[in-house]
Amino acid sequence: MTKRVGTTHTGSSDRQQIWHAMPVEVIHATLGSRNAGLSRAEAAARRMEYGPNSLPAPRPRSAMMRFAMQFHNLLIYVLLVAAGVTGVMGHWVDTSVILAVCALNAIIGFVQEGKAEETLRAIRQILSPHAAVLRDGHRQSIPAEDLVPGDVVLLEPGDRVPADIRLTAVKSLRILESTLTGESVAVSKSPDPVTADAALGDRVSMAFGGTMVSTGQGRGVVVGTGRNTEIGKINALLHEVVDLSTPLLRQMSQFARTLTVVILLLATIVFAIGVWGQGLVVQETFIAVVSLAVAAIPEGLPAILTVAMAIGVQRMAGRNAIIRRLPAVETLGAVSVICSDKTGTLTRNEMTVQSIWLAGLHVKVDGIGYAPHGGFSIDGGDRPVDDIPGLIELSRIAALCNEARLYQTDGTWQIAGDPMEGALQVLALKAGLDRTHEQGLFPRTDIVPFDSQHKFMATLHHDHQGHDMVFIKGAPEKIIAMSTHERAADGGEIAIDDEKWLAALDRLAEQGQRVLGIAFKPMPKGTTELEFDDVTGGMVIVGLVGMIDPPRPEAIAAVADCHAAGIRVKMITGDHSGTACAIGAQLGLENAGAVLTGPQLDAMSDAELHECVRTTDIFARTSPENKLRLVTALQAHGHVVAMTGDGVNDAPALKRSDVGIAMGISGTEAAKEAAEMVLGDDNFASIVNAVREGRTVYDNLKKAIVFLLPVNGGESLGVLFAILMGLSLPITPLQILWINMVSSIGLALALAFEQAEESIMNRPPRDRAQPILSGFLLWRILFVSCLFMAGIFGAFEMALYLGEDVETARTLAVNVLVAMEVFYLFSVRYLAGSSLTVVGAMGTKPVLIAITVVLVLQLSFTYLPPVQSLFDSRPVSIQYGIAIIATGIGLFLVLEIEKILRRHWIG
Ligand code: ATP
Repeated sequence: MTKRVGTTHTGSSDRQQIWHAMPVEVIHATLGSRNAGLSRAEAAARRMEYGPNSLPAPRPRSAMMRFAMQFHNLLIYVLLVAAGVTGVMGHWVDTSVILAVCALNAIIGFVQEGKAEETLRAIRQILSPHAAVLRDGHRQSIPAEDLVPGDVVLLEPGDRVPADIRLTAVKSLRILESTLTGESVAVSKSPDPVTADAALGDRVSMAFGGTMVSTGQGRGVVVGTGRNTEIGKINALLHEVVDLSTPLLRQMSQFARTLTVVILLLATIVFAIGVWGQGLVVQETFIAVVSLAVAAIPEGLPAILTVAMAIGVQRMAGRNAIIRRLPAVETLGAVSVICSDKTGTLTRNEMTVQSIWLAGLHVKVDGIGYAPHGGFSIDGGDRPVDDIPGLIELSRIAALCNEARLYQTDGTWQIAGDPMEGALQVLALKAGLDRTHEQGLFPRTDIVPFDSQHKFMATLHHDHQGHDMVFIKGAPEKIIAMSTHERAADGGEIAIDDEKWLAALDRLAEQGQRVLGIAFKPMPKGTTELEFDDVTGGMVIVGLVGMIDPPRPEAIAAVADCHAAGIRVKMITGDHSGTACAIGAQLGLENAGAVLTGPQLDAMSDAELHECVRTTDIFARTSPENKLRLVTALQAHGHVVAMTGDGVNDAPALKRSDVGIAMGISGTEAAKEAAEMVLGDDNFASIVNAVREGRTVYDNLKKAIVFLLPVNGGESLGVLFAILMGLSLPITPLQILWINMVSSIGLALALAFEQAEESIMNRPPRDRAQPILSGFLLWRILFVSCLFMAGIFGAFEMALYLGEDVETARTLAVNVLVAMEVFYLFSVRYLAGSSLTVVGAMGTKPVLIAITVVLVLQLSFTYLPPVQSLFDSRPVSIQYGIAIIATGIGLFLVLEIEKILRRHWIG
């Protein structure tokens, strides 16, 4: 282990050290670190010593507290008051059952909430950040939690700074420190020490944990981890509270609350009519009114809706769509436009160089994938590398102006880094160049990193004869525009013929190839730093490289699914328009012939853009700002827009869109934080799967509501009718609670697990402005409420008519209602489509489990003596049993006929 000076000063008590004022050498000496990073063994030892680089998690709410919170609910208050009053009146059985129901409700809520929170927390875990460090001299990506003092960290745009870092080298590095200082403008950083008494915001030699890199690159040594970071000290890190509510859930619990108030008012009026209008006994009327309230309140609704939402989130996670904010589940179901990046999302991002254009010479490159096997040919004839002028030079620039690494594991070739750069490394190997050897011949001294705004990357090199030069690669039209000369076939440099190069570019792009321009620029002797202005002109272009990046087959299928589902797919790419059109056509985009480029968009007024955005599906050579304008324009048409992004500059567009989708693999921390959803596999098909799940969740919520409300409706209509007519109650309050809490919730839970209906992606997106309970559903709820009421009353009155006692008649009424519920469950699984199909009749596992449980419970309600005495129920004969089931079937058939009539007349 390296001997460390002042070991005790790091990690645990670094407060004494004034890192920002110390020169870099002193920092290294103090921390026992090196520019090349720690060794793996040293890092492991320090990890043991200093612990994880994380802040102590906020203390979760205690279980007791969470349980107690379940009672904080208007509906439960109503039940508790009812329990109190029945207690005072001496109706002990009622009191205890009502209390038991409250407890049961709390337990269900408690368990479900716990599960949902766990799911969301596990999902957050998947998204925990990584950091780029040097360990044993190699760049590695490690979980940020494993960072230790002394680690050398590399920072790039979009990274969240993983710990407190003393910067040792920067390149145009700017960091947004608003989380720490409240300052909303990014701060320029520098490795030079600052004065010891500099305020936090002025310590430009430091990068603080929790802040965000907005531009440039940096490297530095970790000086504080975990709770010893500045943010750890002030403990200002957002205590992440798992929020389980969404607009719809809030809307529904508001609905339940309003309903409760209305019901209480109604109950009071009914009580008054009963006592003063009809002269009934106060006690009896009160019990009747309690049953009315209990009957009408949908006790289980909020719990069921939360469960349906949580199941949706879980299913989406299973399909690589990780939801960061719960409301996205709802919004996904309403998405009408998906704006997607091309490279890696719609295409495979497995690049292979296929052609090279060298000032008039079209060279074909053989081989596929990352294995460096394959030669070169011109006009169908193989050619040795040395016979192709310019090829070596082009390959050298491609290999050295490059950050990717090619390596072999178990005989297969793989790349670390950008696949396009990987493909260039493969090309160089095919041309016989060894990268390490070339790096020795042309060492790199500086870099202008790639960014999607400028679309090129440049590196500064020198050779051992004292020449300095810039190697550059980037978007070909950029490189052509920056070049004054071209490499001629004889090896000389002649003035560039732009037209010829642009024509060659178009030909390659039309074949769907992704094209890069490769150039160099001689620099004055002794140049050691590369400024942006050095690389904006005076280049010598050497050639164009064409790569294939085929569309993902699953993306082609997903685009077709979107079209069937009324969702428009728009491709917004940084690539060339010709390439974009060719790939767009292969993907089957609707209007693949028409394309708008970023510069064209820039030249358009908002009004013109508003018009164009409707019909154009391909946007090429776009900048991140274009994305923001496009989202806004699409939203102005009333579209619900999902937009993908990966870079730090994409964050505003992701935030602005209705569902911002960040790439899980290639995306930056900044993009992920701005997004509602993160794609685990960067795949377009996963977005469409998520939309499908989103629609399913919404359908299931609707089904649960349409299932639960008529039960309450039927019960309350029955009770109301009985009170107003002065008849005996067909069901007692306790029996109503039994139905609401046991069979209704049990059966409705099955709906939360429903799979998507087959037609789910064959209908247009839902209009988000439309309330969940609109025309058809309201009608259905009312209609079924009336049928339920008829069932309850019919069974009760019929039994009395046949000479049964009131208890038996009530037992029958309860059983009829439950039987109707079971058959209604089969019907509601397909809201508009027929349930009378083999698949429909078979049900699903959750449906069958729910029905079995309800059946067993219902049998015990009817035949088990202790339960009988609790609910005052009586055994019923087999004939009645058959009649009960027949009533259920009757309801099912009536609803099927209703569906047929609706389809026939309303369509
Ligand atoms: P999409 O936006 O669909 O992902 P893209 O990858 O082409 O497409 P950008 O990453 O913004 O979008 O790249 C824009 C252009 O910049 C590319 O078409 C290419 O010409 C050039 N380019 C991309 N990566 C590099 C790089 N590492 N070095 C040099 N030039 C690059």
